[in-house]
Amino acid sequence: MIKQNHYHQGYVVNPLSISKIHSKALDFRMDYFHRIDRYGRIDISTILEIDYGDGRKYAILESDSNGPMGLTTNDGIIFLAPSVYEGAINGNGRDRFTLAHEFGHVCLHQGQIGFARASTSQNKIYENSEWQANEFAGAVLLPDYELVKNKGASIQILAEQFGVSLECAEIRKEKAQRRGIL
Ligand SMILES: [Zn+2]
Repeated sequence: MIKQNHYHQGYVVNPLSISKIHSKALDFRMDYFHRIDRYGRIDISTILEIDYGDGRKYAILESDSNGPMGLTTNDGIIFLAPSVYEGAINGNGRDRFTLAHEFGHVCLHQGQIGFARASTSQNKIYENSEWQANEFAGAVLLPDYELVKNKGASIQILAEQFGVSLECAEIRKEKAQRRGIL
C-alpha cells in the first residue's frame, strides 16, 4: 500500500523554483528555530521525535531490507528504515539528509502524492518530487545564509558544523557559487 505511492525516480508534482524551495526550507528553520544551535546546526531527529506531534506521525519500518530508506505518505506520515532513524539520532550526515528529505515531502508535497504519476525523462527536473525534496533537505541543513556567514570555512568544517556529509557540503557550496551567492 505504501510502496504504491513511492516511485524511486520520483513523481510528477507542481513545479517549484529553487528560490521557492529555499524559502520553504527557511520557513521550516524558522518554525524550529529552537532546534538550531548557535553554530547553525539543526537538530532534525529531535524535531521528528518531539516537535512533529499534534496529529502528525512517523513510524520506523521493520527492517532495512529491500525497501526505501525513507518515505512519506500523502497525509504526511514519515516512515524511516531503522538504520536511518538511528543514524540521524547519532548525527550521521547521510541519515540526517534522508530525514530532512522526508520533511521536504511533508512540506512540499502533502496532498499531491496520492494523485501523482511516476516521473519520466519527459518531465522537467523542477517538477520532480525527489529533486525538490533533495533541494529542500540541502537548504534546511545548510542554508545559503549560513554558507555566506561561513564563507571562509572548508568543506570539512562545514560538514562537521552543520552535520552533513562532505559530499553534501561540497554540492551546497558549488550550487551557491553557481547561483552567484558566494
Ligand atoms: Zn523522496
